[in-house]
Amino acid sequence: MDLGIRDHVVIVTGGSKGIGEGICCCLADEQAIPVIVGRSPEEGNRLVEQFKSEGINAGYILAELANLEDCKSAVQQVSTIYGRIDALVNNAGANDGVGLEKGSPEGFLNSLKNNLHHYYYLAHYCLPWLKKSEGSIVNVSSKTAITGQGGTSAYAAAKGAQLALTREWAVELLKYNIRVNAVVPAEVMTPLYEKWISGFDQPAKKLAEITKKIPLGNRMTTKEEMAAMAVYLLSKQAAHMTGQFLYVDGGYVHLDRALAGA
Ligand code: NAP
Repeated sequence: MDLGIRDHVVIVTGGSKGIGEGICCCLADEQAIPVIVGRSPEEGNRLVEQFKSEGINAGYILAELANLEDCKSAVQQVSTIYGRIDALVNNAGANDGVGLEKGSPEGFLNSLKNNLHHYYYLAHYCLPWLKKSEGSIVNVSSKTAITGQGGTSAYAAAKGAQLALTREWAVELLKYNIRVNAVVPAEVMTPLYEKWISGFDQPAKKLAEITKKIPLGNRMTTKEEMAAMAVYLLSKQAAHMTGQFLYVDGGYVHLDRALAGA
């Protein structure tokens, strides 16, 4: 299947590890040009060097996404270097556990900055370029937007808002033929997830309890499986899909929970 994204310039926030890295690798396989926008230069540059050693064009732009000026500058840099932007993958974020009882208004606002505001900033600054390319946006949300998790008010609010913005932008951008979709992960083993699970008293036991409840195969989703959906949504094969939430989660959110451990 030809995804039709060869030489397309695709910004992937937080693209140097985890799900973002998976998306960049999948884009590289399709001969698109992944441009990582993130705050860890060592990891970002290492991945870009790896791509370049394989003859694949790719880029890295340093940005702390909680900072508006960094977001603006990142888009400017990408457009100056490549002269086009075909797609944006809003992916960077972290489940930072700012709860209602164990949290604070300051922590809540700070978490929204880290998890939500840059989704808007990047889309806003990319828009003139996406209009030219009739491009596409994929927002990476989370099951917590739908199921709740407990103890993570700001993250859940950010992830829910990302779904609302997916529909809102899909409507606003119809006239430009720009498609906007979301992927919704549940349990994917990434550096972020490893850090989260290691916070439990018995991480291995906790992980076994979680995977037992994932209906399809009682296993975690891989970052490659997440990436395949995200890249498909960016492609010409998804040319008539917009405003959609794609749950790549082994049935975790929608299938009967009585299936747990079956
Ligand atoms: P990850 O392994 O931590 O990778 C996230 C990347 O985003 C890292 O490179 C991180 O940089 C970067 N990042 C985060 N905040 C940033 C900021 N303010 N400025 C610049 N870069 C920033 O996480 P992941 O598990 O792949 O998660 C990717 C997305 O999937 C997130 O939106 C997450 O909420 C969502 N998600 C993941 C899961 C899961 O099971 N893994 C489940 C549901 C939703 P640093 O390393 O420097 O922090």
